[in-house]
Amino acid sequence: MSLDVSDADVLTDWFARTARVLPWRHPDTSAWGVLVSEIMLQQTPVARVEPSWLDWMTRWPVPSALAAATPAEVLRAWGKLGYPRRALRLRDAATVIAADHGDVVPSDVDTLLSLPGIGAYTARAVAAFAYRQRCPVVDTNVRRVIARAVHGAGDAGPASTTRDLADADALLPADPETAAQVSIALMELGALVCVARGPRCADCPVFDRCAWQHNGRPAYAGPAKPVQKFAGTDRQVRGLLLDVLRGTETPVTKARLDVVWSDAGQRDKCLDSLLVDGLVEQTVDGRFALPGEHR
Ligand code: SF4
Repeated sequence: MSLDVSDADVLTDWFARTARVLPWRHPDTSAWGVLVSEIMLQQTPVARVEPSWLDWMTRWPVPSALAAATPAEVLRAWGKLGYPRRALRLRDAATVIAADHGDVVPSDVDTLLSLPGIGAYTARAVAAFAYRQRCPVVDTNVRRVIARAVHGAGDAGPASTTRDLADADALLPADPETAAQVSIALMELGALVCVARGPRCADCPVFDRCAWQHNGRPAYAGPAKPVQKFAGTDRQVRGLLLDVLRGTETPVTKARLDVVWSDAGQRDKCLDSLLVDGLVEQTVDGRFALPGEHR
């Protein structure tokens, strides 16, 4: 026995009863709002995204508004959400949407995929959650739910786009709106109940249908998963350097940046990578600033 498409109602009922109330899930949220939320939520917890998303929607309620902002304004508003290249790519996407799509986020997956910085997951999430299409959406959480409830494994193995999409597609009923509800319910289940460590199976709406339970809860047998660390990484150093620039309206000297990290080699490498990524610019007199503000 395993989770299958006949469990759609159980999943959608559970979602309707217990889902978190998040601002981007409000029925009045535009496709633009959904797109911004999906970019922000990549590798970033909901609690950190929520205030930033509300701020962005107030400042830039339509793509053309974001497209008109300077890169520096965008990076300041991104704050400490991390992975700041996402912010500039989102501005790039907004520019194309404003210029080529009448300031409206496209609804079909292929057109969404043609936008800067929009990958397979985000394109499908927008199609399903904003435009209520029958479109499988697979993130880490959904892969884990499917691995356990459908395949009876302890956790998901390495990703395989074709197989993962086919697995998710098999759980979606024909009706587009119900399929969209199932897609979001699977994500919520993986985020809140079928979590990576210590799944809360006693609270799970599909406990009776879960293949992992029926298999006797076998341990994960796939390749070891990399442990993500932050302290001491280049990502941390880049964040510290950007913090200095976000906190000032004027360009700063190299000395102001040097105080944030003691390892000069790592610090300089990170500053170079920020310059290469277009997240920092150097002024003609050799100081450093957020892009587009000072020349
Ligand atoms: S019963 Fe447990 S392992 Fe199975 S889907 Fe639910 S939370 Fe995940």
